[in-house]
Amino acid sequence: MDNQQDKKPNAENPESLLNLKLTKPKIVAAGIPAVLSSAKHVFGEMDLARGMKALLALNQKDGFDCPGCAWPDPDGHRSKIAEYCENGAKAIAEEATTKKLTPQFFKDNSVYELARLNDYEIGKKGRVAQPMYLPEGATHYQPISWDDAFTRIAVHLNKLSSPDEAVFYTSGRTGNEAAFLYQLFAREYGTNNLPDCSNMCHESSGVALNESVGLGKGSVKLEDFAKAEVIIILGQNPGTNHPRMLSALQEAKENGATIISVNPLPETGLIGFSNPQTVKGALGIKARLTDIFLQVKLNGDMALLKAIELLLLEEEERAPGTVFDQEFIKERTAGYEEFVKGIKRYNVEELAAAAGISMDQMRQTAEVFKKKSKIIACWAMGLTQHKNAVDTIKEVVNLLLLKGSIGKPGAGTCPVRGHSNVQGDRTMGINEKAPQKFLDNIERVYGFRPPQHHGYDVVEAIHAMHEGKAKVFIAMGGNFLSATPDTVYTAEALRRTDLTVHVSTKLNRSHLVTGKEAMILPCCGHTDLDMMNGEAQFITCENSMGVVQMSKGSLKPISEYLLGEPLIVAKLAKATLGDRSKVNWDLYMQHYDYIRNDIELAIPGFEDYNKRARILGGFYLPNGPREGKFNTFNGKANFTTSDVTFTKLAPDELMMQTLRSHDQFNTTIYGLNDRYRGVFNERRVIFMNEKDITRLGFAAGDLVDLYNYHGGKERVAHKFIIIPFSIPEQCTATYFPETNVLVPIDSTADKSNTPTSKMVILKLRKHVE
Ligand code: SF4
Repeated sequence: MDNQQDKKPNAENPESLLNLKLTKPKIVAAGIPAVLSSAKHVFGEMDLARGMKALLALNQKDGFDCPGCAWPDPDGHRSKIAEYCENGAKAIAEEATTKKLTPQFFKDNSVYELARLNDYEIGKKGRVAQPMYLPEGATHYQPISWDDAFTRIAVHLNKLSSPDEAVFYTSGRTGNEAAFLYQLFAREYGTNNLPDCSNMCHESSGVALNESVGLGKGSVKLEDFAKAEVIIILGQNPGTNHPRMLSALQEAKENGATIISVNPLPETGLIGFSNPQTVKGALGIKARLTDIFLQVKLNGDMALLKAIELLLLEEEERAPGTVFDQEFIKERTAGYEEFVKGIKRYNVEELAAAAGISMDQMRQTAEVFKKKSKIIACWAMGLTQHKNAVDTIKEVVNLLLLKGSIGKPGAGTCPVRGHSNVQGDRTMGINEKAPQKFLDNIERVYGFRPPQHHGYDVVEAIHAMHEGKAKVFIAMGGNFLSATPDTVYTAEALRRTDLTVHVSTKLNRSHLVTGKEAMILPCCGHTDLDMMNGEAQFITCENSMGVVQMSKGSLKPISEYLLGEPLIVAKLAKATLGDRSKVNWDLYMQHYDYIRNDIELAIPGFEDYNKRARILGGFYLPNGPREGKFNTFNGKANFTTSDVTFTKLAPDELMMQTLRSHDQFNTTIYGLNDRYRGVFNERRVIFMNEKDITRLGFAAGDLVDLYNYHGGKERVAHKFIIIPFSIPEQCTATYFPETNVLVPIDSTADKSNTPTSKMVILKLRKHVE
């Protein structure tokens, strides 16, 4: 047998399967194919009774929150049969599967062998059923009791020379109760090292919105979509990533709204939608959603927004008060004059060219905005993962402010969050730079002073581990290695730690690229019945629109060893802090109501938490911008002035964005197909403009290596298949996590430090075996 101890387990997905099949990209999303796909995934993982029970409880007011994205559920009526989308069903199939990984599985499969599987194959192995431990130098995980696991982790934490040598990461699945306890534990232990998946997605939105309007969250409610006159969707693919948003867009459309989509690729869901929950949809009758599709170049959004604003300004100056909401601007905003001065520096034709949009389309778009004032702007990673992401999002706000489109029905900001409770985790204090007020509240309620200096965000945590400054890494959910940039560097960072711990439902690559010792602690998912002292517990989650609601799992857990995340945190905290803790962790182990009682004391907006959490449908958190109140330094919504950056590429360079396939949620790979884009059985593909393929001397189907140089280092992603696609020249797209290896760790957005996964410069060369 090989000496596996000497081999490093794969940090990256293994190379191409080369079974690629292509069809024409689809022009209609959802419909009957989505229903069939949902059924295939759910009933392929569990029996009919369990599958039906799960689906009937999914997103119901007394059921559980979808572990997929953070799109909100309707406040009023919800369908009793199917209040979910295809991807929600896939998320349930993944989590509620009855396949499980027993200690025998880990005995039969070494870490090295498991890492040779691709992410899809790893995920399909099933739920982790028991706490598992990888001792230093071992090749196989072995079972460990919960008590021993907590003791070992506590020993590691307590021997660190500073609490800042530990990193406490959180992914967006974690409910409010566990998130609150986790930050409390980390802070009483002595660190603000609380990076989370937000650092890689909507951090840029939070920073921009906080500065411009005083709250780092969106302002719209779901019901606003039905009242909007214009909805502009930038850098977002709702058909795959937030599919139930399509129903809201369809309703808006039926009420007369104009929908403008801004994206480098035409995404199926935004073109046409066949709602499987309506008779028309069931008959395959589609609704066209997008009225104007602006196929912007990668990072052309800022130029596009400024061009629209400039055209509107010309009209406003021609007939003052007819285009802009001057009363709103005067009463509620600051910085308008400087904004106008700043925008006049630009030439609209040059901006249009930089965006890659024709002047005809620019004028057509400006004409739509000119006449309307109820405007919603939605965006996702297509805006947030650029170097100038914060400025671009502020420019979105500028456009809304010109039209008085924040703080009234049918209008506002809508950053669409990607993971079920990512917004709630931040509200609960999962924040390496928590506001002083939050830290003071913790001190007031618990009587200890949290550390006052900032902790590490994701990128800083990776550097700290790489440099040996952080030695223990604990992850509350997620697949850190696959979610983060610069895979090889991040893998080295994790390998340099003394201990990596993952609280997880399923096996993933981060369990296989470990510190000297490693642990996997199996937890309940959203679907699982979580019993404590004979009573079924519930957790609470906050969706993208600030609604906090109950999520109560009801399926029999696949193993008696699973624990709820709040209980895991409380036990770990007790084992680590012992008598030096001022927190009554034992109380939190009795009932989750006790946790909510204390959240209510520490965080504004959670008054009567236990009572209101039990109201079916939940409650809204306070939201100043929604009411036209701006909690900024000057009490106003602030116009901002920023520059357009023009990235000049050499003739043989291309700009790449990473994206998800339709069979994927974040790093979880449900399957190898991307039905809407017509790609089957393969993920190592690069979408390219046909002209670029020819110009660079390649042909469709060629095998290429993608590479770049950054910071004096070459990064390579091997063996990708070229696919011609509708995408602007010199722009390309590939799936993550396969190409995260090309995203340099120190290429991050200004102010938010979010990795710039949507603007990766690369070159191609022929792949040689
Ligand atoms: S839209 Fe998002 S939250 Fe809703 S069912 Fe689909 S994946 Fe789940």
